[in-house]
Amino acid sequence: MLTVELISVGTELLLGNIVNTNAAYLSEKCAAQGLACYFQTVVGDNEERVSMVLKTALDRSDIVILSGGLGPTEDDLTKETAAKVCGRPLVLHEASKTAIEEYFSRRGIKPTDNNWKQAMLPEGAIVMENHNGTAPGVIIETEKNKVILLPGPPNELIPMFEESVLPYLEKLTEQVICSQTVKICGVGESQAETMVKDLIDAQTNPTIATYAKTGEVHIRVTASAADRKAAMKLIKPVVKELKNRFGNSIYTTEEGVTLEQSVVDLIKANDFTITCAESCTGGLLSARLVNVPGVSDVYKFGVTTYSNKAKKRILGVKKPVLQKHTAVSRQVAEDMAEGAAEFAKADVAVAVTGLAGPEGDGDRPAGLVYIACSVKGTTVAEEYHFSGNRNKIRESAAACALILTRRCLLEYMSKVTFGKKD
Ligand code: ATP
Repeated sequence: MLTVELISVGTELLLGNIVNTNAAYLSEKCAAQGLACYFQTVVGDNEERVSMVLKTALDRSDIVILSGGLGPTEDDLTKETAAKVCGRPLVLHEASKTAIEEYFSRRGIKPTDNNWKQAMLPEGAIVMENHNGTAPGVIIETEKNKVILLPGPPNELIPMFEESVLPYLEKLTEQVICSQTVKICGVGESQAETMVKDLIDAQTNPTIATYAKTGEVHIRVTASAADRKAAMKLIKPVVKELKNRFGNSIYTTEEGVTLEQSVVDLIKANDFTITCAESCTGGLLSARLVNVPGVSDVYKFGVTTYSNKAKKRILGVKKPVLQKHTAVSRQVAEDMAEGAAEFAKADVAVAVTGLAGPEGDGDRPAGLVYIACSVKGTTVAEEYHFSGNRNKIRESAAACALILTRRCLLEYMSKVTFGKKD
């Protein structure tokens, strides 16, 4: 098994000014590629120390990936140091010089003298184009190692890694790694793990890993094989088995589909419109729906009704109901949903009311939330108990509102289908 080591260069990282998301991204990608990563280092913009950690890494790892410090300024010294350590002089790379010229002329800016520094690359290196910035990426191949230099900004590093480094690593490892993610909602992480424990225990190729997200569990099935087709063939029966076990709780097995997308798809499939009436989530639920491109076809209107007055005035929640049950109650959630459906003339309305904390309300703790969903006049309300800080509680509430909406839509659809059959 080939080994890979990561070196993140940047004093900002050492000082904690920025979070090292590049290292998290690169380690995940390398592991998925079947590379063993035993060491990661963060080092400041200092030639002597970068040189020291690079030499150590070259001694113990096959592939070393350095990120950051490829910029045009004096303190960007990763490339210069790596070239020196690998014994490669820097030479002008004409194609990179032209790319830099074009990058600046497209933006109508004149390059400064130090920009040309980025076209000086280690002799004999493989050069990777940067479509989102000026610093080209570099691969130096020595007798024993591969040294890969990537720009620091994630919006440059990630596309370069996917376009150029990944195909390079696939050739080195002589295998293709493919994965498919089964996304599940409304099932807790430990319950989901228990349901697949036997599969995880027996796994070799493909491997199965579960990841918890707010309100969701993702199960990633990853296989390695000689080509994509063979890898997908290994993945297919496992995904089928997961579908058997989780049924309707799976909202997608497709790349890039989110929970909110799956809800919007169901709304569209029924030719419905949707509205939201939010209290403690303060617009988070609407924001998630609006994440979905094309949602404007089905989402026209939504409200944040934080005060009792707003709940009464806009949603028509009755004063005696608020007095008897309080704003955080199943009845008020139901009335909010029904009032919103009427006000917005929407087929589906979702309402959220709860205690986001940090304080509770008398003997009712923070985290108590009621969510109601009304589909074509049939309203369902549920009580939830979330934990965590204010943000976490609000995020959990928005996620569960989407999950409840999905459940109500599926129930509505199964009734309609059943009715038709009758
Ligand atoms: P530039 O050409 O922009 O100077 P660079 O390759 O020299 O890029 P750095 O100067 O080290 O990269 O970092 C530029 C910016 O990229 C940082 O200010 C930070 O926003 C981001 N960045 C750098 N390294 C990381 C990292 N490891 N994780 C997340 N973000 C990072």
